[in-house]
Order: sequence, then structure tokens, then C-alpha cells
Amino acid sequence: MMKDLTCVIIGGGYAGLQALKSIQKKTRGIANGRRIRFVLLDKQPGHLRKLRMFRPTATEEEIIIPWNQLTLKDVDFVQGSVASVESTEKRVRYTDSQGNDARMRYDLLVVAVGSIVREPDPDQGGIALTDPQAAEDIRERWRANLQKAAREMNPKERKRLMTIAVAGAGISGIETSAELALAMRKEAMALGLNPSEVSVYMLNAKERLLPEVSGKLRRKLEQQLIECGVTVLHNRKALREEAGSLALNNGVCLPVGLCIWTLGLIPNPGLKGMGLPLTLDGKVMVDECYRVKGMPDVYSIGDCSGIVDPRDGRATQMTCFEAGEQGLRLGSIVRADLEGRPAPSHHSAKSNMDAFTIALGQKGVFWMRKWGIDMVMTGKLPGRIKKLVEDTASMLR
Ligand SMILES: Cc1cc2nc3c(=O)[nH]c(=O)nc-3n(C[C@H](O)[C@H](O)[C@H](O)COP(=O)(O)OP(=O)(O)OC[C@H]3O[C@@H](n4cnc5c(N)ncnc54)[C@H](O)[C@@H]3O)c2cc1C
Repeated sequence: MMKDLTCVIIGGGYAGLQALKSIQKKTRGIANGRRIRFVLLDKQPGHLRKLRMFRPTATEEEIIIPWNQLTLKDVDFVQGSVASVESTEKRVRYTDSQGNDARMRYDLLVVAVGSIVREPDPDQGGIALTDPQAAEDIRERWRANLQKAAREMNPKERKRLMTIAVAGAGISGIETSAELALAMRKEAMALGLNPSEVSVYMLNAKERLLPEVSGKLRRKLEQQLIECGVTVLHNRKALREEAGSLALNNGVCLPVGLCIWTLGLIPNPGLKGMGLPLTLDGKVMVDECYRVKGMPDVYSIGDCSGIVDPRDGRATQMTCFEAGEQGLRLGSIVRADLEGRPAPSHHSAKSNMDAFTIALGQKGVFWMRKWGIDMVMTGKLPGRIKKLVEDTASMLR
């Protein structure tokens, strides 16, 4: 009788969860009769639904889901923050939830420690939408501002208190702006303020929104944003916010009640001390089957992994969609490696198909471009599709 294998997955984000499910499914009944025990190791007490990070900026919503509420089975959850991987000894060093130094042995290891939100310099003011706490702080700030506005006699000051700027116009900035504009108008109305005095400016450093999408989608999106009450300023960068005044790169100062930064993602900075080989941009160095260079039985996927499409050398994007695709493929790769067969190799999910959904309050925009067809759908259905995709990615259904 051979001993059981232990598969440790570090990080229960979208990549780690999908990998766990897929490896469980693909390895069932193989490994020469050996059982595989699965352990999910994450520093947080639950799965953080990053795709819904913008929600608590507008309404109360719990976006950290306790591990035992996910639909995953046959897995042990361990809360701990990984410090390093000791590949010669095949073990992981981590700090457990009591703050103690601990070690865990693995036979198979998946590193999926993701990314963090890029922050501006501290002297640039405002609040960056980095985590659930920041989202809640944002909500408290604008609500307090609207309450002050309801008592304010000076029309200029009232207008300032009813104004928000969102710096950064990626999907996160778009969704946050729309959600806030809708929520603030509603709240303004309830407080007896004029909802049309609410202003949400979204500052886009580029000439156009989402350069990778079609003109048709862009036009629809811009029209929908106007309907939500968002004013998009193109070619505008926020420089710094101080005492209610936001300096822009064209010399103008915008009076604002609050400035929110949504500047995109950077790979998990904790990777630097983990002992894994890293690329120049700080991601884990892997081959076309997500195997970490020079470390047997260690794989890495998702936002933290420096995956390159072997066909065209393009680096993959840091998206939930890519993370999920990689997690799915990893199941087949691990199975092939265990059986000593050739493993399937990575190819970018978006090379022959582009699709995404953007939530705009209860509504949304769904876009798909495949085989030369450019399809855009707006209204409530895309909003529902987005919710369904998110719930599936978070293993809630
Ligand atoms: C505000 C926001 C909006 C977004 N909107 C979209 C969108 O609309 N569409 C889209 O496709 N993508 C979107 N993204 C990007 C998407 O969320 C990421 O691409 C996705 O989360 C990547 O998944 P991941 O599992 O690789 O990493 P993550 O989701 O970052 O998960 C990493 C996990 O590792 C854990 N971890 C980290 N360090 C350690 C450690 N040292 N020890 C133990 N555990 C650790 C973390 O706690 C976390 O659970 C958005 C991101 C943000 C922040």
C-alpha cells in the first residue's frame, strides 16, 4: 500500500478555487490507488469576492464568504499566511492564525496568491479601493458628505459635498462609478436634496475607454454611463486631492467631496520573499504547463503567475476569466503529470474570443466578439449574467 498524497493549494481566490475543484475531479480514481488529500491554505478567514469589491462602496454587502460556505467538498481549510516554499524539503512555511511559525508538507503544490490593488502615493490623498474595509470607508465618507450637504446653505459647498471623482477607468473604475452615481442619487432624494446635483466624475488617463473593445461597445457603454449619472473625462489624470480639491493634469482643480483611486493590479508583493523564481515584473516563473521552473511538483496560476502564450509570446492578462481557465486546465495537467503522459499546454483564453460583462447597478453591458461578430447586449440580463458568472467563480453554486 502506497502512502496518500497531499495536494496543497495556496490562495483561495478564483484561480485557487477552480484549480482545487478541477484537480479533485481529474485525479479521482488515479494515482495508482493512492488517495489525494487536499488542503487549501489562505491568509484570510474566507474567500474574497474581488469582482464585487465595488458593491460595499454603495450598499452594505458581505463579500468575504467563510470557507465552509462554499460548495467545495473533501478539502481541509487552514488559515495561514505563507512566508516561503522550501522545495527541497517539499514543505511550505507559514504563519498560522495564532501568529505561530508553522510548516506543512506537500506532494503537489499550487501557488495562487494573486495580486493586490495598486495604490497611489500617500500624499496624493483620497482612498484607494483596495479591500472590503476601504470599500466600507468610501461608503461612510460619501454618506456623511450627503448628510452635511443636506444642512449646507452655501450652494458651492453643497455641490462639492455631492461630488465624487473616480481616478482610473478600467472595469473596476467603471463599475464603481456607476454603482456610486446610482446609490448617491437615491440617497440624495431620500435626504431631500436635488439628485441632479450629484456628480460622479470618472477620470480616464487615455483618449478612449477600454482600448481593447469595439467601437460599438464603447458607444453603448458611454451612453449607459451617462444614464447612470457618470461624467467621463478623457485624457485626464488625477494628481492629488487635498482639502476637497482635486488637482488634474490639465491645471484644473476639481472641487470634490471624495476622490477614489482604482488604478489596477500588481502581482502579490509577498512573492519576493517566498523563494520562488520570479520574472522581471515580479510574477512566478512557469513553463507552458504552469510548472514552476526548477521546483518539481510545484505549479502556479492566476494573477501571480508569469504565464506566456507559447504561440505568440504574449503575457496573459490578470483577470478572473483567465484565472478560471488556468484552474480548469491545471486539473488535466496534474493528471497527465501523475500518469507520466504529455500535458496540455497553456493558450490564452482570449486569443480567438473576447467577451466580458460590466455591471452598471442592476443593469449591465455584455459584449462578445468571436469569428468577426461583434455583439453588444444592454439591460437587466447582462447584470444577471454577471451575477451568475460571479457566483459560479466563487463556488457559491
Ligand atoms: C476591484 C477589482 C475589480 C475587478 N473586476 C474584474 C472584472 O470585472 N473582471 C475580471 O475578469 N477581473 C476583475 N478583477 C481582477 C480579478 O479579481 C483577478 O484577476 C482575480 O481575482 C485573480 O484571481 P487569483 O485567484 O489569481 O488571485 P486573488 O483573487 O488575488 O486571490 C489570491 C488569494 O491568495 C491569498 N493569499 C495571498 N497571499 C497569501 C499568502 N502569503 N498566504 C496565503 N494566502 C495568500 C489571498 O488571501 C487570496 O484569497 C478585479 C479586481 C479587483 C481588485
